[in-house]
Amino acid sequence: MSPEECIFCQIVAGTSQAKIIYQDEEITAFWDQYPAAPVHILIVPNKHIPSINEVAEEDAYLLTKLIFKAREIAEDQGVREKGYRLLFNIGKEGGQSVYHLHLHLFAGKHILVVKD
Ligand code: AMP
Repeated sequence: MSPEECIFCQIVAGTSQAKIIYQDEEITAFWDQYPAAPVHILIVPNKHIPSINEVAEEDAYLLTKLIFKAREIAEDQGVREKGYRLLFNIGKEGGQSVYHLHLHLFAGKHILVVKD
């Protein structure tokens, strides 16, 4: 899939709508369209990287940045101390449906229930 066809690239570029809660020159965070928990936010690199499998060594700092931003958002959402879950789905059998790297932040009730 080319970046032009990628829904998360379109959200980053502002050509598709999403509830963006943070954006800078490297990463974007927005609410998941179909939330699986009371708090369900996706944090993505602006650059099109399909999945963890394609992360290059020079992009490693981006992973750290996604995690630090997730922690900050957890704080803003009031769940940092209560607890939350961070998740990367990778590939078909890993449950990935959108092939633009994204870190899920889940919090609230029911986050321990793993669904198909
Ligand atoms: P994954 O299954 O790990 O690839 O997660 C993809 C996530 O993206 C799912 O939780 C979807 O609900 C979410 N999603 C798909 N399209 C959109 C969109 N246009 N805006 C916000 N979230 C989306």
